[in-house]
Amino acid sequence: MAQALPTKALINGSWVDGSGGTFPVHSPQSGALIADVARCDAADVARAVEAARAAQPAWAATPLIERVKIMRQIHALFAARAEEVAQVLIIEIGKTVAEAREEVHEYAAPSWQKAGEEVLRHRGLSFPSTQEQTNNKRLVLTHRPLGVVGVITPYNFPTDIASIALAHIIAAGNTAVWKPSEFSPICCNMVAEICTEAGLPPGVLNVVHGMGEVGAAIVEHEDVDGLFFTGSTATGQRIAAKAALRPHLLELGGDGPVIVLADADIDAAVEGSMNACFYYAGQVCTSGERLLVHADVHDEFVAKLKARASQLRIGDPGLDETEMGPLRNAATLKRVVDHVEDARAQGAEITQFGPQEGLFYPATILTGVTPQMMIAREETFGPVAPIIRIESISEAIAIANSSKLGLIASLWTRDLATAWRVGEALQHGTVNINETSNYWDQLAPFGGTGNSGVGRELSQWFLERFTEQKLLVFDLGDTEVRYNRRAEGGW
Ligand code: NAD
Repeated sequence: MAQALPTKALINGSWVDGSGGTFPVHSPQSGALIADVARCDAADVARAVEAARAAQPAWAATPLIERVKIMRQIHALFAARAEEVAQVLIIEIGKTVAEAREEVHEYAAPSWQKAGEEVLRHRGLSFPSTQEQTNNKRLVLTHRPLGVVGVITPYNFPTDIASIALAHIIAAGNTAVWKPSEFSPICCNMVAEICTEAGLPPGVLNVVHGMGEVGAAIVEHEDVDGLFFTGSTATGQRIAAKAALRPHLLELGGDGPVIVLADADIDAAVEGSMNACFYYAGQVCTSGERLLVHADVHDEFVAKLKARASQLRIGDPGLDETEMGPLRNAATLKRVVDHVEDARAQGAEITQFGPQEGLFYPATILTGVTPQMMIAREETFGPVAPIIRIESISEAIAIANSSKLGLIASLWTRDLATAWRVGEALQHGTVNINETSNYWDQLAPFGGTGNSGVGRELSQWFLERFTEQKLLVFDLGDTEVRYNRRAEGGW
């Protein structure tokens, strides 16, 4: 299999070796070597930026409908190769069959189509003059691409997050230098292969692989005009400091509160929490990281959640029946273990379902969690449901807002007025009412507040961030109708 997998870097339309040799990519499930991938260095990044810079004017000048045709062709080829990409997602990042197919079919492939449609409708505005008492001025607001955009992506939705970003950035007339996660370079290379096969001109999309320093080299390169980053808050803060005045969009960690009030549909809240806590073993930015459950329904909720978690089929992600696979890497496993151990040391009660072996961590339910515990204050990013008993709605709001990771919240109640009020009081970018925290809409704005990010992605919000607004002011020069304020004694 290793020979068939794309493992090189893509610079100016050619697949090339990395100047730093290679790095190994191992299966999270078995630890076996999947492939050695090109390891780039700062010189490779410089070549990629140079290629992107050289290609950008012609790409921006390509008629819009031609650019959109290529977006549609990428979508068509991606849809045709969807199963092949999904199979690599299973092997490379440990997604289950259903999760891998969902990522490719629902999100990654259609993003190219959606971005193409979106850019067709990315219109400017025409303004009346409000400064002069003539009918001579015409003001027209247009958009121009930023130029070269650096794109740095994480491992958990490698083809989805990158496709959303690259499709909109490129459709708008920018060129890109992309650094995929070192834990998912192969499926990302398949996306780049599809783009080149679909006719994207050389240099429009460049891919450089390696560890964090390759991403840092993109951020530090002075000829990069804008930055898109999705990943951890810690990395995002480093990038924000270096992005300085360049436009940037940062999608960072979450600490998703799931609030279950006394009047909630408990069965629905339990199902929603199963998805929130255990989908892709909890490695989702929108995962349920804290379950705030009202005292009146706490025991019923916990009993039902335990009953459901005990049925979860954990194991080989390549088997159709598996519902939860392994964590992607040792760093994620260590953080999960540390958070659970800290909670245990501070008195939380722990119930675990499934094996703890290699990178497989069991589905875990913690009760008696307090807001002071590490697991309630920081993003865990693992298959853990930490339950905090709450006595009132105001207590739930205060705990939910105590984290500065305001990405997404989920609220369960049957009362419309309560839903409205709590929804407004939560300081999160999105509040899902009677829906899992892992729900998002591909055409609605997505993004976090505080340490969860800067800006909003998806659809028109993406195009706004990665284009510059430009105002053209025309004077038609019809001086006869010019009104002389001084002569009229106006000032
Ligand atoms: P990470 O921050 O470890 O890595 C993300 C990317 O940044 C990788 O490509 C990595 O090589 C690169 N990188 C590392 N150090 C860098 C540096 N100094 N400069 C530039 N690039 C650098 O994140 P991860 O473990 O791959 O992903 C998990 C995190 O991503 C979680 O915190 C999760 O919540 C977050 N995430 C957020 C969203 C969102 O939309 N808000 C979506 C998915 C994941």
